[in-house]
Amino acid sequence: MKPRIGVLALQGGFAAHGAILDKLGARTDEVRTPRQLAEVDALVMPGGESTTMSMLLERSELLEPLSERLNAGMAVLGTCAGMILLAREVVDGRADQHSLGMVDITVRRNAYGTQIESFEADIDVDGLESPFHAVFIRAPVVERAGPGVEVLARHEERPVLCRSGRVTVAAFHPELSGDERLHARFLADL
Ligand code: GLN
Repeated sequence: MKPRIGVLALQGGFAAHGAILDKLGARTDEVRTPRQLAEVDALVMPGGESTTMSMLLERSELLEPLSERLNAGMAVLGTCAGMILLAREVVDGRADQHSLGMVDITVRRNAYGTQIESFEADIDVDGLESPFHAVFIRAPVVERAGPGVEVLARHEERPVLCRSGRVTVAAFHPELSGDERLHARFLADL
């Protein structure tokens, strides 16, 4: 049986992730409840607004079961707001926003600055033969990556794609550039 890939669908850009995963032939399910979470083998946490997503995770009683699954080794791909939620430390967040603390990085929200809040760049990714066109939308800056974190890509010296065990996080939106390679790799590594 193919693994079931959940896409956290509380808020934000979950639909585009689902579309790519479907195209790649994965079995995907939108996750909005603890019961749905329990049924998937891996999870994508999309971009959106990390403060809102944090609140919705709490309201839908997903925070604890999600943390338990992650600590038990469930594979997850977190993009942008998803990266923020998975980071150990968040700067310029809301005081009440939750951090799942799964990757030893410090991220600063919205830190690419107002003029370039959203931009695109071709980045070199470890293991990919040609550059990946990355779309950054009010992206977090990774200010620190701990020694156990693999940095798979950088933009202007700052890490933008990191992996820690089965947790992969991107500051950009790999679901928006019509390039399926990072999702394909996520599926291949399951
Ligand atoms: N700025 C958003 C946040 O703080 C993230 C933006 C995104 O996910 N595209 O959550």
